[in-house]
Amino acid sequence: MPDLDTKTLQEYDRKYVWHPFTQMRDWEAEPPVVITRGEGCYLVDSDGNRYLDGVASIWTNVHGHCRREINDAIKAQVDRIEHSTQLGLANDQAAILAKRLVEIAPAGLCKVFYSDNGSTAVEIGIKMAFQYQQHRGATRKTKFISFVNAYHGDTIGAVSVGGIDLFHGVFRPLLFPTILAPSPYCYRCELCPEQDSDMCGRLCLAELERLMAAHADETAGLVIEPLVQGAGGMIVHPPGFLKRVRELCDRHDILMIADEVAVGFGRTGTMFACQQEGVTPDIMALSKGITAGYLPLAATMATQKVYDAFLGDYRELKTFFHGHTFTGNPIACATALASLDLFETDRLLDSLPPKIDYLRARLTALEELSHVGNVRQCGMLGGIELVRNKADKKPYPWEERVGMRVCQEAKKHGLFLRPLGNTIVVFPPLVITLDELKFLMDGIETSIRAVTDP
Ligand SMILES: *Cc1c(COP(=O)(O)O)cnc(C)c1O
Repeated sequence: MPDLDTKTLQEYDRKYVWHPFTQMRDWEAEPPVVITRGEGCYLVDSDGNRYLDGVASIWTNVHGHCRREINDAIKAQVDRIEHSTQLGLANDQAAILAKRLVEIAPAGLCKVFYSDNGSTAVEIGIKMAFQYQQHRGATRKTKFISFVNAYHGDTIGAVSVGGIDLFHGVFRPLLFPTILAPSPYCYRCELCPEQDSDMCGRLCLAELERLMAAHADETAGLVIEPLVQGAGGMIVHPPGFLKRVRELCDRHDILMIADEVAVGFGRTGTMFACQQEGVTPDIMALSKGITAGYLPLAATMATQKVYDAFLGDYRELKTFFHGHTFTGNPIACATALASLDLFETDRLLDSLPPKIDYLRARLTALEELSHVGNVRQCGMLGGIELVRNKADKKPYPWEERVGMRVCQEAKKHGLFLRPLGNTIVVFPPLVITLDELKFLMDGIETSIRAVTDP
């Protein structure tokens, strides 16, 4: 139990903590829920209330909270060593994890560069691709292709290749310019009137082909969230899109950087999303699920081709001059290894199909509700888009915060949810049982009805 009572904890939080993506004036107006424990798929607050963790603590948790096997691995590692640097030294856990990651990654990704969060994993990929082109003499290839509605993190480089103006518009003067490609079904480009039709997928691909051909000689890399644009609203790309992007990158000699920070580690039903389309990117960014939601760790994986371009005599200055203090932290790496062990002992990926089917059935049923405009799913993630008017798909004005109100309501039904604008996100720990998934979807349905159809 915590040493301090709920009131004191709430006071400390509101007085001293500045929360991410949060209007603090609103935050200060209400006492926060203070989480002090976790059990399986549940979060427990300082008063003992339980909430099913419907968004896996922002898309990180895989095997549930306080999973004994992972806790034990961490305790064992702490008693050996907590941290040693990767600058001038190797450590056992980082070496073993790198081998394991190469074994499960799309074939051809064979080198692991560690950092500690998703944004850095992407920035490292961008810098690697840029420097790769310089080393091989393609010195004009300095730009990047990014997608409308993409999200790759909040550091300046990651924001530069992102496409969500609502969050990032204010930072525009600080960003490097990119070649912005339209993204299928994203509701945010003007390319086609019927946003969710096959036509949209075809038009977006045609425009991407045109952009890549026109800018091939000045483009170092393309950055993409494979299969699903996560923070952009759980927008699922049409089948075959990713594979086509891979072919185009090959044709135009552009490095493909796949950001699997959200979709990696089983979320879409396969270990990595790229594997569903048989795609090997040149560079792949991993974080969130890598430690099953326990500790900050990230990896940027690269192919032999990319790696080899950095080899040379020291005086040639081909070294990749980039690194973070906690790179390859042994406790985080031991945690990731314990998580990969659990994927095997729990046969976790094999256990997903019935849950994915159940989620599909429940999401499809929700489409009947009068204010659900559209539902989307890819494996164990889902998005439920709420609209004011179903007939013309008129969205609720974002200022009304309908998504947030549904999530507030869901607390009363024992759920913790966090929306993306007017989209309710379903992203539970992969270990969730069918009974728990039913509880989650029942609560979501009740909460949507209560807020949108009172
Ligand atoms: C969360 C996320 C990031 C950023 O990760 P952080 O650890 O928050 O920096 C990058 N890309 C994608 C696709 C993400 O979902």
